[in-house]
Amino acid sequence: MTRILEKDYDSEKGRKMNPWIGTDESGKGDYFGGLSVAAVYVDDSTLPKLKSLGVKDSKRTSDAVIRELARNIKENCINSIVYIGPEKYNELYAKIRNLNRLLAWGHARAIENILEKVDCKNVKTDQFGDKRFVLNALMKKGKQIILEQRPKAEDDIAVAAASILARDEFLMRIEQLGEKIGIELPKGASSLVEEKAKLIVKEKGKDILTKIAKLHFKTTEIVTRARDSCSSVTITKHREPITDNPRLPENLFGGQGKPNLLWAPWRMEYINISKDPGCIFCKAIKSADDRKSYILKRTEKAFCIMNIFPYNNGHLMVAPKRHIGEIEKLDKTELMEMMQLVQESIQVLKETFNTDGFNIGINLGKVAGAGVEGHIHIHIVPRWTGDTNFMPIIANTKIISQSLDEGYNLLSKSFNHLNH
Ligand SMILES: [Zn+2]
Repeated sequence: MTRILEKDYDSEKGRKMNPWIGTDESGKGDYFGGLSVAAVYVDDSTLPKLKSLGVKDSKRTSDAVIRELARNIKENCINSIVYIGPEKYNELYAKIRNLNRLLAWGHARAIENILEKVDCKNVKTDQFGDKRFVLNALMKKGKQIILEQRPKAEDDIAVAAASILARDEFLMRIEQLGEKIGIELPKGASSLVEEKAKLIVKEKGKDILTKIAKLHFKTTEIVTRARDSCSSVTITKHREPITDNPRLPENLFGGQGKPNLLWAPWRMEYINISKDPGCIFCKAIKSADDRKSYILKRTEKAFCIMNIFPYNNGHLMVAPKRHIGEIEKLDKTELMEMMQLVQESIQVLKETFNTDGFNIGINLGKVAGAGVEGHIHIHIVPRWTGDTNFMPIIANTKIISQSLDEGYNLLSKSFNHLNH
């Protein structure tokens, strides 16, 4: 691999310089707003200009300066900006559940947009996850590049310029988003952001979060739970320890080059509501409003419910109505009805979401990762071709429901069709 050294850049000393592309992203740590990725091409003629502008990493540059710098960089350098708005971001994240792959996709697109305009072999980018994520996401033209991925790449002037463009785009978009809903959206993910989110949910309902925020942040759970506990009081007979490990979704992926990690998305389910005592299944059954508790269908002894934490399109669960933890204690009717519901769920998901495959599983016992240990449940997790390499997800723009409630509407409609 060719490593570009600082001295190679210096055209003033008469050395031949290899042009290169730097990429960086902005918004991944901000609850509100989307994610932007930018790429900037630097060569002999543009390097001195960038130097004279005093381009530094966006983290070391104030927001006010960023706008002006970004304007100058855009004027002087070939560049590309890819912006993924919150709605699209949530849709992708629900399917990919891996921020690094999502980032890789953005970086790959930004790189390719530049390769459309100019030939370039060398690319530098910040370190995130496995380099192969980016390389895999690159199309034919991009496969020729030499990618250098390293921590603190912002020291590189092209990466720094890209970080300025990405931040500028992010700031502009979050401002627009705030104007659209009439509430200024703060940056970052602090307690201030949390308070603002609570206020917004109180005023506009929780569904708006899909359109303005990154739902997989813990903030979503804090904000929506705070609301739920005010609006409904449920008395629970039993308390169960919630035992799932709070792990990052990335760790659950058996990514390329990693030892065989089991991809078990259902392990994720309740880590976000770990402070909630009581059994969520029993709570849901007792609730008078199936829509509110996201129950899609009840049979005599079993029911089917949407998995709402984490937000994840089409993840359904089937459980007996009885609070029972052991599979060997289920009676025949329970077993039969549960399997029938699994069957119907699959039918419905295929119809509604054009699903290509499924992971179906039960976690029994803490050691196996059961989130709600005392109440057995079967997970049905839809999979799409390409959901590990998400090129096709964007390429063929299937419309997947944008919010839980829309998802509920679609699925319950489909369940009703089955019944008649
Ligand atoms: Zn229960």
